[in-house]
Amino acid sequence: MKKLLIVFNTLIISVLCFGQQYPAPMKADMTEIWDPEVRIIQPGELPGMPPSDAIILFDGTDINNEWTDASGNPPGWIIENGAMVCVKGKGEIRTKRNFNDFQLHIEWRTPAEPVGTNQDRGNSGVFLQGQYEVQVLDNYNNRTYRNGQAGSIYKQHVPLVNACRKPGEWQTYDIIYTAPRFAGDSTVYFTPPRVTVIHNGVLIQNNVSLRGPTLYEGIPEYSVRKHGAGPLMLQDHNHPVAYRNIWIREL
Ligand code: MG
Repeated sequence: MKKLLIVFNTLIISVLCFGQQYPAPMKADMTEIWDPEVRIIQPGELPGMPPSDAIILFDGTDINNEWTDASGNPPGWIIENGAMVCVKGKGEIRTKRNFNDFQLHIEWRTPAEPVGTNQDRGNSGVFLQGQYEVQVLDNYNNRTYRNGQAGSIYKQHVPLVNACRKPGEWQTYDIIYTAPRFAGDSTVYFTPPRVTVIHNGVLIQNNVSLRGPTLYEGIPEYSVRKHGAGPLMLQDHNHPVAYRNIWIREL
């Protein structure tokens, strides 16, 4: 009797399941996501030109629109042929706006007549959130320490290759930056900032992780300070380095 009951139950289950497959087969449209539609923008007409959603930080005309000196006063740098040029002793310049995550395009040029060697030749720098320096330096036939040359994250990450053009020629950096998240802000755990740098179209920093704000002396670490959104800062390192066509997209 017991055996008969088991056979009967098995038969019932088989009938119920017959013709069905588990899990049910998926259809293509079940994995299509339509809404909301991806935001439409207009890309730049040529590579390096700003897309429609970019903030223009310098278009070759007025430096005062978006930049100040370290004290919040008009910058002491000069405009020459559509470029803004560092003037020795006038100090860094910084954006009036503060940024978190972004995509940045910036073009730079070191003096056509090279003067000096090592770090003392066409030196400037792009400081992300005012904290982390992507080195600008004339490293065309000019050796320096590898973690301090053009495209290095100064004293933290060596560029993958030296993609420098000759002094006097315009060069590009395209920088993708993810700001740090400090525990207690929006996340439980601290996550360090990450940086990708493309130099003259060549990947030289591949999503590297930073260990702290840039220091000339000492080991960078996050116990030093916590920070929020910050400006872009361009360094005065006593050399007439020029910049042009600067735009940024907040991410
Ligand atoms: Mg520098």
